[in-house]
Amino acid sequence: MKNVLITGASRGIGAECAGMFARKGYHVIINYNSSQTAADDLCRKLTGNGLSAETIKADVSNPEQVRDMFHNIEMLCGGVDVLVNNAGIAQTKLFTDITDDEWNRMISVNLSSAFYCCRSALPYMIRQKYGRIINISSMWGQVGGSCEVHYSAAKAGVIGLTKALAMEEGLSGITVNCIAPGVIKTDMTSHLTDEDLSELKNETPTGTIGTPSDIARAVLFLADEGSSFITGQVLGVNGGFTV
Ligand code: NAP
Repeated sequence: MKNVLITGASRGIGAECAGMFARKGYHVIINYNSSQTAADDLCRKLTGNGLSAETIKADVSNPEQVRDMFHNIEMLCGGVDVLVNNAGIAQTKLFTDITDDEWNRMISVNLSSAFYCCRSALPYMIRQKYGRIINISSMWGQVGGSCEVHYSAAKAGVIGLTKALAMEEGLSGITVNCIAPGVIKTDMTSHLTDEDLSELKNETPTGTIGTPSDIARAVLFLADEGSSFITGQVLGVNGGFTV
């Protein structure tokens, strides 16, 4: 049974990925930071249905906590075959109002977390000459989002990390890819009004807003053993919003 670690899997896209991986027969490690009840409920729901899952708490923006999390995973199940760097935060703010703390937090939760988790996951993957890393960026990391400069910068950094690491790990049997979601209905976008959502739908070629399962399906595809010839890529899952 393959192990998958999904960061920020207590809610939203991460939680949907956890369910889909579990139903595909993976052992799912549900990372959370503050939403323990949601993570525990999800885990109970999966194991109650005979699926394999466990939870693990860590603030993935903190390198010590990430080291400890991987140490515990090594003790519990050996290591991680598939790593999904999904944990993230967003904020809408005028560029000139962004404080140093907000900038640093945005970069550390969205980008440094991927660095810390990849660094800890790789030794096991390299030893077994197999691994799948899927990083969740954003379409704003591809094209830039107004009033989201710190978020866009962090997500563009995730794309750079993905491409460079894919080149470095190509011969190790490890693929590193990135998904750039468009607007997806989760807590992160819950501040959008019905009017905002209908405007966004009008601007989207498919005329729809994305769902967590749209993203989870793409993650599952990239995690598949058969996707071994796909690496260093950015897959836009955005209804054609950016092409
Ligand atoms: P969400 O519903 O707000 O969930 C965010 C998840 O990240 C939660 O499970 C949260 O866990 C976790 N998290 C936040 N900070 C963390 C930390 N320091 N350590 C560990 N976990 C942390 O967001 P979402 O919409 O599912 O977003 C998931 C990913 O997709 C993010 O990277 C986001 O930037 C990206 N994305 C989303 C959209 C969208 O429209 N929704 C679009 C493009 C990209 P706790 O609650 O336990 O802290």
